[in-house]
Amino acid sequence: MSPALPIIPRNHETPKLPCKNACAGCTGNGGCGSGADDHEHSSVLAAEEQVLPTLRRDGSRNWIRPSLSQGFYWHRRRFLAYGLIAFFVTLPHLRIAGKPYVLMDIAKREFTFFGHTFYPTDTPLLACLMLMAFFSIMLVTALAGRVWCGWGCPQTVYLEFLFRPIDRFFNNTLGRGGKSRRAPSGLWMVAKFFVYLICCLFLAHTFLSYFVGTDRLAAWMRMSPTQHPVAFLVMGGATIGLLFNFLYFREQFCMIACPYGRFQSVMLDRKSFIVAYDSKRGEPRKRGKRIESQAEPVSTPYTLDHLSLEPRGDCIECGRCTAVCPTGIDIRDGLQLECIHCAQCVDACDDIMGKIGKPAGLIRYTSQDGLAGLPTRLIRARTVIYPTIISVATVLFLVILSSKFAFDARILRMPGAPFSVARDQHVQNNFRVRLVNRSQSEQEYSIRSTNTEAVARWSNEGLITLSPGESTLAPLDVQFPIQTTSGDGFKDTHLEIADTSGQTRDIPIRLLGPR
Ligand code: SF4
Ligand code: SF4
Repeated sequence: MSPALPIIPRNHETPKLPCKNACAGCTGNGGCGSGADDHEHSSVLAAEEQVLPTLRRDGSRNWIRPSLSQGFYWHRRRFLAYGLIAFFVTLPHLRIAGKPYVLMDIAKREFTFFGHTFYPTDTPLLACLMLMAFFSIMLVTALAGRVWCGWGCPQTVYLEFLFRPIDRFFNNTLGRGGKSRRAPSGLWMVAKFFVYLICCLFLAHTFLSYFVGTDRLAAWMRMSPTQHPVAFLVMGGATIGLLFNFLYFREQFCMIACPYGRFQSVMLDRKSFIVAYDSKRGEPRKRGKRIESQAEPVSTPYTLDHLSLEPRGDCIECGRCTAVCPTGIDIRDGLQLECIHCAQCVDACDDIMGKIGKPAGLIRYTSQDGLAGLPTRLIRARTVIYPTIISVATVLFLVILSSKFAFDARILRMPGAPFSVARDQHVQNNFRVRLVNRSQSEQEYSIRSTNTEAVARWSNEGLITLSPGESTLAPLDVQFPIQTTSGDGFKDTHLEIADTSGQTRDIPIRLLGPR
């Protein structure tokens, strides 16, 4: 940990920082006047107070190297984290009915989830999916706080359970974390960077496979980058981005860049579960508490110091909760934006409580109402409204999905004149048909009018052929005798489109003619 900076008074005219160079005559408050260029006695950057745990007041980086507390929650988080990593790496390789479980083909504008492909015409389905995902996050946050941040977010999972263990291995602090007792040599640092690079390359390739599929990715990896320059640049950019994030940016991503963390204040309420310090029990805190008997009853809000008879809480100011915090905050200051609810401070404090013969839970998962001694109700307005919206979106999704055909067909009137009359007294209407083949095989599409007086045919003759997932905008002519129109110039009929497999769509259409 870096040495604490002096407190800068708010009304100080020019904030002074200690002399870096310890030059002769320096009083440490910027008054020696040596005039050296790098002599840092004052800083215009110095903020009035610390803005972020990762930034010192002069703007330099405060590197956070948390210790490790291998307690109850840490073991469960580690189990989940390695399960999630395995899931992320395996998922693009899994197939269902020959299709990938997940493939987001942006170039083709096709999204495959669990073997079902969504096309650009499936906007309502995708909107329902997004609604379900968005309100599920809101519901989980309302109930369990930032459980996603601490337990499931890739940023936390990879940083805490892949990259920090690599740091600890190379810094010789494996299993305990914190600062290394000896500075790692240059060779170790190069080796560490190499391991980071391999991990980031692997993650970038896995990430790319979600968008291009594993088969295409494997083929690209055997080719020269000049044969797939765009994909190569994307992969290179992703690798550099991951290296920047996990080597340098790290926990700042949660504090500065992630929008989810910023929305916490509106998504949490007093009944949401959070990681919180029980100040009623912990205060007044006092350093160096001696071990009390396990059998001794715990009095709240505080016990009396056995020697001085002063009131004292259970917090012994050991600093373990701060030392293990991956975002460098002190949970005893209350609920903070930077807290990702990883429960490392809970494990650390429970361990300390065990050692001093006090019950666990000075820092624990609870709600703000729970801390105040009020009942914590699961059922409240937002925990009813969110599931209702999720249920409605789910039902809508299933209804729309079940009404989907093996192909989509949408008839659009051609711009310009609505109809033309030929010499043989036949009226012609021109349309375009948006056809999407949603099946797994190549299909040919025919069209006919169900009204024998009208004749419908593809303008370019013959059949329209589409491969799986392909779409087209096919021109269509419909002709009918002029005398069959009604007096107001309309003629209503149905068009039937059929594919090779025998699936048909019957589409009502209004034909236009002279009055
Ligand atoms: S770990 Fe517990 S006892 Fe130690 S400083 Fe934090 S709250 Fe106090
Ligand atoms: S305060 Fe506790 S729960 Fe919050 S980020 Fe720090 S260690 Fe994790």
